[in-house]
Amino acid sequence: MKAAVLETIPGQVTVDDLMVDNPGPNEIVIRTEACGLCHSDLHVMLGDLPSPVPSVLGHEACGIVEAVGTAVTEFAPGDRVVTCLNAFCDTCRECRAGRSWLCVNRNSLRQRPANNPSLVRNADGAAVTAMAGLGGFAEMMLVHRSAAVKVSPDIPADRAALLGCAVITGVGSVFNAAKVKAGSTVAVIGAGGIGCNIIQGAVLAGAERVIAVDLHPEKLELARTFGATDVVNGAEVDAIGTVVELTQGGADYTFEAIGLESTIQQAIGMLRVGQTAYMVGVAPVGRPVGIPAGQMVLTGRGVQGVFMGSNHFPTDIPMLANLYLQGRLKLDELVDEHIGLDGVNAGYERMQTGVAARSVIVFD
Ligand SMILES: [Zn+2]
Ligand SMILES: [Zn+2]
Repeated sequence: MKAAVLETIPGQVTVDDLMVDNPGPNEIVIRTEACGLCHSDLHVMLGDLPSPVPSVLGHEACGIVEAVGTAVTEFAPGDRVVTCLNAFCDTCRECRAGRSWLCVNRNSLRQRPANNPSLVRNADGAAVTAMAGLGGFAEMMLVHRSAAVKVSPDIPADRAALLGCAVITGVGSVFNAAKVKAGSTVAVIGAGGIGCNIIQGAVLAGAERVIAVDLHPEKLELARTFGATDVVNGAEVDAIGTVVELTQGGADYTFEAIGLESTIQQAIGMLRVGQTAYMVGVAPVGRPVGIPAGQMVLTGRGVQGVFMGSNHFPTDIPMLANLYLQGRLKLDELVDEHIGLDGVNAGYERMQTGVAARSVIVFD
């Protein structure tokens, strides 16, 4: 099968021929229909997020089950599934406590031992890893059974794929982590794929005012289509001062969806006293962020990191799919262009120019 493989870090992907193994007892093989280009793959290509190479990137995918392992009873060939990088064991302390997105056994479920690779390169038999145990930039995926969930075949594949990362991360941050209350005020810094989903999550939660902050006019325009009541261009005005004024003292909830020190500091600065700023964007691993500790103590403010929208995706993704089918969750507006595997590098170059919506790989 064909796959877009990252050979070096930093680097770009090249399309190569790989062989996918048969599923183990608790694995499934999926024929990939669509996979979105998420910022986290770009972080890996740039070296900001550690990952082994060679590796098939891609972790926002949808496809049709092709084969299932001998122990798998919840899937059958022909099922339409969405994958999620939050594979979980259901038995560790975090899973038992209802926090499966923090499962301590996630990595051992996602990666096979080195002597039993799920993917090998046809040319030389070299083992190739799959990013986050998924590897969606490929015609086939071999994943743990706990990394996928069935969805309705009524959702187009290019929309359904986005449920697995951008949508669940954004909407989940609002529903599961911040638990935004109706009538509250919300500020979202960064109006890309994640930010627009935080915005529409806040709208669904009944926020009175949803303020989008970004530097790109095109992204702020997209934020409006996702329900932002106000937009603030940080390149033109003082973002903190403007949000504090619009909310008469600071937003009840702020979300940072980029992963930059300056914008994390903004999220704290535009927060109402006694409230919490949520860090949703993935900052480069190992790079510290300075926060005004004394000021935070004196004003009772907090900062909370949110991983993948604190999701329990086996229930969250079907819920999000139903909201889409009811016309209440926007997915069509997230898709900017369809590309093939050979368009991945260009898609990421495009992302870095400030294009708001997603490039999505669609397989024939
Ligand atoms: Zn992602
Ligand atoms: Zn677990």
